[in-house]
Amino acid sequence: MKSFLLFLVSAAFSYALPIFPGERSEEQNMQLAQKYLNQFYEQENEPGQRGWKSKNSSFMTRIQEMQEFFGLNVTGKVDADTLEVMQQPRCGVPDIGQYVLTLPGWKKTKLTYRIVNYTPDMKRTDVETSIQKAFEVWSAVTPLTFSRVHKGRADITIEFATGVHPRCPRQFDGPLGVLGHAFPPSHPLRGNVHFDEDENWIANLVEQGGADNYHGTLTDDVVAPALKKAPELRSLGFPRQYTTVEFDLRLVAAHEIGHALGLAHSSVPGALMYPNYKPLNDPTDFPLSQDDIDGIQAIYGPSLNPSNKPVKPTLPKMCDPKISFDAITTLRREVIFLKGRQFWRVYPGNSEVDLESISTFWPSLPSDIQAAYENMNDQVLFFKGNHFWVISGFQMQPGYPKAIGHLGFPQTVKKIDAAVFDKNTGKTYFFVGNQYWRYDENSQAMDEDFPRIISDDFPGIDETFDAAFEHNGFFYFFHGSRQWKFDLNAKRVIGVMKNNSWFNC
Ligand SMILES: [Zn+2]
Ligand SMILES: [Zn+2]
Repeated sequence: MKSFLLFLVSAAFSYALPIFPGERSEEQNMQLAQKYLNQFYEQENEPGQRGWKSKNSSFMTRIQEMQEFFGLNVTGKVDADTLEVMQQPRCGVPDIGQYVLTLPGWKKTKLTYRIVNYTPDMKRTDVETSIQKAFEVWSAVTPLTFSRVHKGRADITIEFATGVHPRCPRQFDGPLGVLGHAFPPSHPLRGNVHFDEDENWIANLVEQGGADNYHGTLTDDVVAPALKKAPELRSLGFPRQYTTVEFDLRLVAAHEIGHALGLAHSSVPGALMYPNYKPLNDPTDFPLSQDDIDGIQAIYGPSLNPSNKPVKPTLPKMCDPKISFDAITTLRREVIFLKGRQFWRVYPGNSEVDLESISTFWPSLPSDIQAAYENMNDQVLFFKGNHFWVISGFQMQPGYPKAIGHLGFPQTVKKIDAAVFDKNTGKTYFFVGNQYWRYDENSQAMDEDFPRIISDDFPGIDETFDAAFEHNGFFYFFHGSRQWKFDLNAKRVIGVMKNNSWFNC
């Protein structure tokens, strides 16, 4: 029954929208791109940073940043794929900009909210239920509670508005484009959550235990105003395949509330905090991904109600003889061994080993890091997929992640297996499959005539690597549960050990 109703709804909306294949001129495309970048890719601000200098944000650099964020081919050009993403309905909060790094969160866990006004697209009770359910998404995984107040001050306010609207530095853009925006706890307008009234808002509510109870969607008071707005969409020339003309208020509200609680945009496509609107396949699905949960729990901690806790993988045991690592790097006098969401801090020559969680130290760093190294500028670079993050003096640097293309890798490289910095030469070695690249930290450029075959230059090692680091002039390479100690000068393996030899097991 539900899928039939959904079919009726989508049929009713889609016939009204003609297809406009490539109707924009080159100049219009450039204008659209410029406007998009001004809005969502603000100038970077990386004060006091050494080593990785902030680049002068030219149009091309910002296009590249946008392409990196969305995992597109980093061409620096306004190509068809880029334009397609730029036309998708999305959130109005920038992906890169001043308020992207939003910690800390609210200083209390009992928060209030108020619905300031309503959209005529939906029944009032459906608005209220949608908003309440949007808050429940976050209270399910944190100690936060949200209670509704009907008047007076509230921590979080919910408001529908169009175009330029009072007491807000951002504006709306009519149908499609930006759907909503919100301000984080660090912003003077903290707690303001605004929705673009020029969109067609729908309730996508399913009561527990009854999937057929799909209400709020097909009533006349919902469909009529939505269809009334549809002709406006024609004049905008949006190709139909890029657009959705109805937006699930609960889903968009849950995303915006995420900002109001302190979260920035995620580049993980399945995350609720991904900037672009993606309807749920099944409205009963819980909209948070692990990335969202990791992010919000890094600010507020996990839920106090044990039944709400998402299932966590069991903690790896450091003395397990089969243990393997995702990445290893020195960090000043320590060596850190990363695995999943945790890392061990080892102080060589000392029996102490500490287990820490990545999100506690660096909330914006994802789990399952694939490579890491420390350079001579007190910076540690972490790699996952084709992105890297930089911490400097234990602080996560804003403006990251960036694509590894910035380091000189070709686009064909999708991930780095291991990285290790050689203090004696100022060179960093990057291992990818059976090849390696060498990077000069002083000139910040890849050395010429790379990649080379690992086994040609590291005789005795014919494995791919999980991780590598340098200690006392030796490289240690890790694969599975074993490690190889390599003498760079003699160019030979001088020992093969168990992985966990660093842990005093
Ligand atoms: Zn957003
Ligand atoms: Zn606003």
